[in-house]
Amino acid sequence: MDALAASSAGPKKRVAVVGAGIGGLAAAIRLAATGFEVEVFEKNAQTGGRMGRLEASGFSFDTGPSLLLMTDTYRELFRSAGRDLDDYVRLVPLDSDYRVTFGDGDALTIRRTLPELIKELERIEPGVTPRFYRFLEDACHKYRLGRSEFVERDFARARDFFGLRNLRLLLKTKALGNYYRQVSRFFQTEKLRQAFSLQTMYLGLSPFEAPAVYSLLPYTELAEDGLWFPEGGMYSLVEAMERLATELGVRFHMNSQVEEISVSKGRARGVRAAGEEIGADAVLANADLPYAYRELLGGTADGDFRLRRRERLRYTASAFMLYLGVDGKLADMVHHNFYLSGCYRENFQAIFRDRRLPEDPSFYAVVPSKTEPRMAPEGMESLFVLVPVPHIGPEVDWGRDGDAFKEKVYGLLERRCGLDRRRVVYEKVRTPPDWHDEYNLEEGAAFGIGHGILQVGYFRPPMVSKAVEGMYFVGASTRPGTGVPLVTIGARLVADRIRREVGSL
Ligand SMILES: Cc1cc2nc3c(=O)[nH]c(=O)nc-3n(C[C@H](O)[C@H](O)[C@H](O)COP(=O)(O)OP(=O)(O)OC[C@H]3O[C@@H](n4cnc5c(N)ncnc54)[C@H](O)[C@@H]3O)c2cc1C
Repeated sequence: MDALAASSAGPKKRVAVVGAGIGGLAAAIRLAATGFEVEVFEKNAQTGGRMGRLEASGFSFDTGPSLLLMTDTYRELFRSAGRDLDDYVRLVPLDSDYRVTFGDGDALTIRRTLPELIKELERIEPGVTPRFYRFLEDACHKYRLGRSEFVERDFARARDFFGLRNLRLLLKTKALGNYYRQVSRFFQTEKLRQAFSLQTMYLGLSPFEAPAVYSLLPYTELAEDGLWFPEGGMYSLVEAMERLATELGVRFHMNSQVEEISVSKGRARGVRAAGEEIGADAVLANADLPYAYRELLGGTADGDFRLRRRERLRYTASAFMLYLGVDGKLADMVHHNFYLSGCYRENFQAIFRDRRLPEDPSFYAVVPSKTEPRMAPEGMESLFVLVPVPHIGPEVDWGRDGDAFKEKVYGLLERRCGLDRRRVVYEKVRTPPDWHDEYNLEEGAAFGIGHGILQVGYFRPPMVSKAVEGMYFVGASTRPGTGVPLVTIGARLVADRIRREVGSL
């Protein structure tokens, strides 16, 4: 790493970014595009963080995100730098969004065109059509209001959140009600209630605990933008962002773990990485927020985020992952597949209430080579399996329980997906401790801190430190929340704050 001179040497203000996840990349693009000098420090060899790529034995796997939604957020990011996303990566709309297989083996394919979808829904719940339209109308309302009034705002002052208008909106849309109860108002069968509540799993949440506002998720899939897939896999979007950042002059320091954020006289002065001090006018932590406070700020910022509160934070679920290279085709599967447990509610209770490994887990399996054949050698498939499990805690010891759980998952894959285990020619396993170690995710929580009522909006840890001047945060555990589109929106909000508060000249 170069020794960097103090920022006063040049006319530009310098921002040191800790982490090259989606939040770090998107913020770096915006800051560089508006005249900041941006230095990004990433502990790993690859940019993208959780949105990584694994290449082995001719197979290619996206390691984290697989569902691309709200594509307008990425288009807007590239536009903000005077570029067109299409010149960097091609996004392909998926014909059928996904298939949900219920505990009894019956399956529902969520199709992109309305007549086909309605036919499927009527087969499962005759007479559901008008109620389905009312569900969509309600979810549309939540999406529009949720996005403009809550997601796209940084709530700099408490009154921005607690204003009468917001309280009225929250009450009117019942956004803070219980998700599963809300969905149950529109659907009478357990199957459709499950099919339109499973989406909270995208955020590592239980539908039995999540706020109703997240019905905006199935809405974005069904009616707003649908599901997309970048040519070459999800990681192509990361490569596009890295390329744009580099063109704008962002400097990446890879394999460069930040050991400390330097603070003196109440102000962030830079970072220490590989034993070297690098001065900066502002520091933006993209590393998981609770980790950044605990490990990098060492308690100096307790003024705005007290230890006590940190200990009370609630976390999302984690993910047990199998990345499998399969010789032959997986004829029974489509690109995105959800396999729901026959004990749907108990499965969530095991993970979120009892914090133990579920007996009969629901899981999600992706075969990206169905859309992008280049992700597997000819005649083979790459298979990504995600099983929601509790975050790190005393109830599960992965050293002791990991192998038996893997065997259970293989059993499910054989029974429910038609996988012949003898055809698996490549295997990589990832458990919650791996998420913790590879990305410094507190508690190994794959999606960051939770999104219960007391951890959303103004209650979520803010992206600007009050105790340390020039200290900012971006990513899944700060506002507005987890998921690639939300983190991308957060990057815009924080870059705007840095521009206003630190200034680009
Ligand atoms: C299995 C899985 C599936 C998911 N599926 C989806 C999906 O389908 N759709 C969706 O929208 N979202 C999905 N998500 C959520 C999404 O991945 C995250 O919300 C998002 O990628 C978080 O980005 P981030 O920038 O906040 O953090 P990260 O990706 O964690 O980036 C932070 C970076 O900081 C680096 N870092 C940490 N500490 C240091 C340090 N001390 N010094 C230097 N660097 C450091 C890390 O290595 C990492 O690269 C999924 C997540 C997981 C885990």
